[in-house]
Amino acid sequence: MSGEAKQLGVTDHSRDSAGLTYVYPVVSRRAGGVSVGINLNSNNACNWRCIYCQVPGLKRGTAPPIDLALLERELRGFIDTLLHGDFMRKHVPEDARRIVDIAFSGNGEPTSAREFPDAIDLAGRVLRDTGLDGKVKIRVITNGSLLGRKRVQQGLRRLGELGGEAWFKVDAGSADGYRRINGVEISPESVARNLHRCAQLCPTWVQTCLFALDGAIPGDEEVQAYLDVLERAGCANLPGVHLYGLARPSLQPEAERLSSLPQDTLEAIAVRIRALGLAVSVSV
Ligand code: SF4
Repeated sequence: MSGEAKQLGVTDHSRDSAGLTYVYPVVSRRAGGVSVGINLNSNNACNWRCIYCQVPGLKRGTAPPIDLALLERELRGFIDTLLHGDFMRKHVPEDARRIVDIAFSGNGEPTSAREFPDAIDLAGRVLRDTGLDGKVKIRVITNGSLLGRKRVQQGLRRLGELGGEAWFKVDAGSADGYRRINGVEISPESVARNLHRCAQLCPTWVQTCLFALDGAIPGDEEVQAYLDVLERAGCANLPGVHLYGLARPSLQPEAERLSSLPQDTLEAIAVRIRALGLAVSVSV
């Protein structure tokens, strides 16, 4: 398998860089190692359409049926290559030769897969069998919009039992903001309710992407509405917030309308979030 993998730069997040259907490596110096990505949305389909999304050929929809046997073979095979093969030596800078996590972070919303809870179980089993349980975390990167579904709740509860965590996307605080940024009709009340549910099931970090749209930075009212969503969700259950700028270029038609916020604007918003009692990390 490592023979098929392309040489990866530290910013290469290409989903097909290991030549597999579901599993792909992300080498990140910032994260200090290799994240084993799982892409359940091999059809590039998501129920949202964020204007900063980096998925090429993004379309509306849900994940296709998942071949769990293939996913398990790929995950076991790839972890074996990381632990015992020469992938690390060939593709990873010396100071990043460790596995940081298994991340359900693909080309769409992972919880839209019917098999989502089975996939979480499977990842837990592979970690246990390879002696990595307790050392490597499972993470689910989600837009959180499907938390009303029993199977999604079941998967996230299992994630919590396995010591994993969710990263829950909140990019705005108003229906207008969600429509503009995430291309979805959803109310701030629903987002707060879903975030609250998620945090009851497993440790849940909020992840927020901030940028200027047509040169306009998020206004004071929008930031306050966003803070209200976090408060309504119940900050006591949230470990904190990851604030991101535009790390990589959008692959959506709006790409040219987006620009990065100055670091001090991000920091000023971080200060307001910290005032709610939440930890905040800022990455530009
Ligand atoms: S939720 Fe994620 S995958 Fe879906 S459109 Fe937004 S950024 Fe892209």
